[in-house]
Amino acid sequence: PFNFSAGPATMPEAVLRQAAAEMLDWHGCGMGVMEMSHRGREFGEILEQAQADLRALLAIPDHFKVLFSQGGALAHNAMVPLNLAGRHPQRAVDVVVTGAWSQKSAQEARRYADVQVAASGADGGYTAIPDPATWRLRANPAYVHLCSNETIHGVEFHQLPDLAALGCDAPLVIDFSSHVLSRPIDWGRVGLAFGGAQKNIGPAGLTLIIVREDLLGHALPICPSVFDYRVLAEQQSMVNTPPTWAIYVAGLVFQWVAAQREGELTGVAAMEARAIERARLLYEAIDGSQLYVNLVDPACRSRMNVPFFLRGDDGRPLKDPAHPRNAAFLRGAQQRGLLQLKGHKSVGGMRASLYNAMPIEGVQALVDYLREFERSA
Ligand code: PLP
Repeated sequence: PFNFSAGPATMPEAVLRQAAAEMLDWHGCGMGVMEMSHRGREFGEILEQAQADLRALLAIPDHFKVLFSQGGALAHNAMVPLNLAGRHPQRAVDVVVTGAWSQKSAQEARRYADVQVAASGADGGYTAIPDPATWRLRANPAYVHLCSNETIHGVEFHQLPDLAALGCDAPLVIDFSSHVLSRPIDWGRVGLAFGGAQKNIGPAGLTLIIVREDLLGHALPICPSVFDYRVLAEQQSMVNTPPTWAIYVAGLVFQWVAAQREGELTGVAAMEARAIERARLLYEAIDGSQLYVNLVDPACRSRMNVPFFLRGDDGRPLKDPAHPRNAAFLRGAQQRGLLQLKGHKSVGGMRASLYNAMPIEGVQALVDYLREFERSA
């Protein structure tokens, strides 16, 4: 079977096998990772290795900290303003809203900051990224937030904005939950990146924060100390018991990514080449059909999350998952081992998530099924 879930999501089989093999006894120490003290030497090695491997994979410069936390990306929708909004006397925060996740981030930040929506794709149903030249950014807010891949609406930034060139002197914060490790990151344009692990990285429970050092130390007094990024950095992500199992499996995924090859390319570059190929195959099949449609502007279509609709007899997208045509499509997919294709409830239709662990054969099987179903519809 091929699992197209948006997250928690399909994992590299080799990683699952290794985790299973080491479940009872990690490297002959007589304990499984779940059973180890987080303060012991064994887990210390696992944590340090995972952080170092992630730094190497994403070419994270030395003046950034790699932090592991909990709470998921949603907790950090609150923790980012609690840590950074104090950089501006009125806690000014600008947010670019390109889908459900950045919309949620703006809403949460309003509890702690003076949030201005600098641009929004809401009018177009989140099918395009407003041209950065039209964004209404303040001159020096505490930070500017965007979601670099909108998991629900399938909208991805293929290039991060250069805020300085837009006249805005502020660090850029990105929620990269659903495309981390699928492409390189231009750290010259980013102040802080955060994301949940449960898509391209590993089990739910681990949240990544990669933060430029000069942004530490601005937490508001009400910021919980376990989520104060400066304290997390000082205590090597171990203010309290970290999600040890999730960190261990994430570390295995980092090693798996580093070992992947695509021609001359390795690591994240190889992941990116595969992501481009998977996305090309699926979007071409959708665009080349009469039955299926993806409504996102081709300039910002996500390589990771592909929402699409079947059309009704009148040619309009069928959003209701209970419509007999959608139900038949999902039933047939399930029978062929093409799992979890139902779209997010707020958008309807279908969604195929094509994360790093999805082999091209999975996308080919989906495309074959799309064609077969169209012939029979
Ligand atoms: N941000 C994005 C882009 C997501 O895809 C998700 C999805 O689950 C979240 C935030 C929420 O993450 P969590 O469930 O880890 O809080």
